[in-house]
Amino acid sequence: MACVMWFRRDLRLGDNPALLEACADGAVLPLFVLDPALWGPAGPVRRAYLARSLRALDESLGAARLSVVHGDPVRRVLLAAREVGATRVHVAADFGPHGHRRDADVEQALGDAGIELVRTGSPYAVAPGRVTSGAGEPYKVFTPFSKAWADHGWRAPVDAPTQPSWLTLDETAGIPEAAVPDGVGLPEAGEAAALRRWHEFLEDRLEGYDEARDRPGVDGTSHMSVHLKWGEIHPRTMLADLARHRGTGARTYRKELAWREFYADVLFARPATAREYLRPEFARMRYDDPADHLEAWQRGRTGFPVVDAGMRQLRATGWMHNRVRMIVASFLVKDLHVEWQHGARHFMDWLVDGDLASNQHGWQWTAGCGTDASPFFRVFNPTSQGRKFDPDGAYVRRWVPELADAADPHDPGPAARERAGYPAPVVDHAEERREALDRWEEIR
Ligand SMILES: Cc1cc2nc3c(=O)[nH]c(=O)nc-3n(C[C@H](O)[C@H](O)[C@H](O)COP(=O)(O)OP(=O)(O)OC[C@H]3O[C@@H](n4cnc5c(N)ncnc54)[C@H](O)[C@@H]3O)c2cc1C
Repeated sequence: MACVMWFRRDLRLGDNPALLEACADGAVLPLFVLDPALWGPAGPVRRAYLARSLRALDESLGAARLSVVHGDPVRRVLLAAREVGATRVHVAADFGPHGHRRDADVEQALGDAGIELVRTGSPYAVAPGRVTSGAGEPYKVFTPFSKAWADHGWRAPVDAPTQPSWLTLDETAGIPEAAVPDGVGLPEAGEAAALRRWHEFLEDRLEGYDEARDRPGVDGTSHMSVHLKWGEIHPRTMLADLARHRGTGARTYRKELAWREFYADVLFARPATAREYLRPEFARMRYDDPADHLEAWQRGRTGFPVVDAGMRQLRATGWMHNRVRMIVASFLVKDLHVEWQHGARHFMDWLVDGDLASNQHGWQWTAGCGTDASPFFRVFNPTSQGRKFDPDGAYVRRWVPELADAADPHDPGPAARERAGYPAPVVDHAEERREALDRWEEIR
């Protein structure tokens, strides 16, 4: 019997229950559909990474080939299934707003042709929608969610299939060429790279993670977000490894993975919050026209060193440290009074790990309008945040090289700015803080 394994955000062979189900059916067509609805908006950095990840998956199939086709999945998956005579198409379930709808449409089209869409697993340890409060409602607050999530538990990792029999389509479009934007350095892609990076992190940095993770000038985090984004590794594999480690590093890391699962759960329960305020009263707040300030923020020219360092790190690497993501997001919303959606869009254009649930809800959390959000009145002072989390200025010196020799890189005086060709602050933080709080009072 033949079947299709339709890869999407699960670009790996190991610990892939959907793939094992497929192999149990007989010969398997490994398929990837380049959906223009996703490929276009992905942004150049994510497109380049995805092309590399597909190449790595293709190589891991040995003598076989990954069949890549372009177009609307509703049509393409059906055509592919028909060509190989498949009776079942296997996937890991997608819980994002677009993927969920798309899968329902594909399921309908396949069903009309007598072919079954089989969902096994998801990109999460616990599928969104699975844990609910006592009243059967989705959780709105992280801590009780994470407790229920841990109590629910997850299955153990599974092995890669042994000696699978692969099929190929007669005609495929091939893996697209997607150039990396000038000056951007991307991490190595693929399952083997993800596992290597994970094991290096476990060995070298897990123990000190709890302290180092908040220091953007130190390489203290795992950089696993991009591998998780494309499913080059499953969080279940990581959770199983973490369970073998004691100490605060492993505990804190597990909590961070739970945040990823929480945001997926929140977005699944409220798909409109990919664009809309989770707390609707914030839609009534007065905001400024993005105008020039948005561009200064995007280019890392606001005159606030830690903000500019973060925005330049994003452009140079497709990644930004979590602490700095919070600082730059707070600055855009509360100092420049620009709606969070503008910033979230810029992040999605540039982040290699850009993930709708974590990004939109990371933004809403910082902007004070999200679930379990940091209260709006807690306005970050970018200069003291910089001093606190980058005390020796290593992060700012690295990403704002014109301030490398500044005596106080977090707050260079007018003469030091002039010498360095570094701009004066675009706003007065104390004034904008008051302004933000006034606007917030209006909607309370
Ligand atoms: C405004 C904003 C936007 C964000 N956008 C994204 C995004 O598009 N994609 C994305 O994966 N993460 C996003 N995050 C969360 C977080 O910043 C990144 O996951 C983290 O910086 C990735 O680096 P790492 O793998 O080295 O993290 P580590 O510290 O090593 O964390 C381990 C893993 O835990 C998960 N994680 C950690 N922190 C969070 C968090 N706050 N929310 C959700 N998951 C988390 C990630 O999967 C991460 O890979 C955003 C956070 C903010 C504040």
